[in-house]
Amino acid sequence: MSRLPISLEFFPPKTPEGVEKLAAVRQKLYALKPQFCSVTYGAGGSTQDGTLAAVQAILAEGVDAASHFTCIGANRESVLAKIEQFKAAGIKRIVALRGDLPSGYGGFGEFRYASDLIAFIREATGRHFHIEVASYPEMHPQARSPQDDLNAYLAKVRAGANSSITQFFFNPDAYFRFVDDARKVGADIPVVPGIMPITNSAGIIRFADNSGAEIPRWIRLRLQSYGDDVDSIKAFGLDVVTALCEKLIAGGVPGLHLYTMNQSVAPLEICRRLGLQA
Ligand code: FAD
Repeated sequence: MSRLPISLEFFPPKTPEGVEKLAAVRQKLYALKPQFCSVTYGAGGSTQDGTLAAVQAILAEGVDAASHFTCIGANRESVLAKIEQFKAAGIKRIVALRGDLPSGYGGFGEFRYASDLIAFIREATGRHFHIEVASYPEMHPQARSPQDDLNAYLAKVRAGANSSITQFFFNPDAYFRFVDDARKVGADIPVVPGIMPITNSAGIIRFADNSGAEIPRWIRLRLQSYGDDVDSIKAFGLDVVTALCEKLIAGGVPGLHLYTMNQSVAPLEICRRLGLQA
């Protein structure tokens, strides 16, 4: 039986020390034989050079890499310049996103939605890129309704997306329901669940609040009850996230995308427990 594909997500480090630390983390995580690694992209310019540098470093290490790419605030010319830069760097995978408006930022620019970006990339570069998109089993926080959000997802698939990676979630039913709904409307691309390890209470609660992902009450209360007891939080987090992955794998997911947060310990331990180490 072939092994379940694993992909890993990193964010671009901001300092030379961070770059070195991430390189060491990657070497440890390569034990998982990732199908590809992706690097996030800061809307509004903050970390975009760091993204390209990290993606190039991963490709140079012989591992396939995807650059995330956001279109908010961009125009056709700037997007074209960026995709030419990606092509020149040997990048063949893009995670195409709208991005979020940083406070005080000017406006949407020439691309209103991720589907506009995908259509433009396909028009400009044909099938050169494998395009991943974001999906939201618990609905994108700005969507007017689950049906609207599903239509937005379908628009991304019709514009040429090859596969999708979900926002993190802790309720597997939301994922399976989303996959069923998407298939029913004809959005038939793989939906890879995004898995967020839990290693710290404040961080996961903040991420969840910002992204519209729900932390079930029983998990939130347990995390809060541990206070500053980091070991208990980590032990509980590993149990919860491994159990989630077990349910997802039993339900037939096409892969797992791990939000590593540039750390190796939790992703490696979760995969060890799942029997997914190479
Ligand atoms: P879209 O698919 O364009 O959707 C945005 C909103 O518009 C949704 O509410 C949708 O329902 C609605 N919508 C879309 N089309 C229409 C339409 N035609 N009519 C009406 N409403 C519509 N952010 C970053 O800044 N950098 C990253 O690297 C990054 N990586 C991410 C990776 C993953 C796997 C995920 C899940 C998210 C990531 N994000 C990243 C966050 C993402 O940018 C935000 O969630 C953003 O708010 C939405 O991006 P999107 O591509 O899903 O947008």
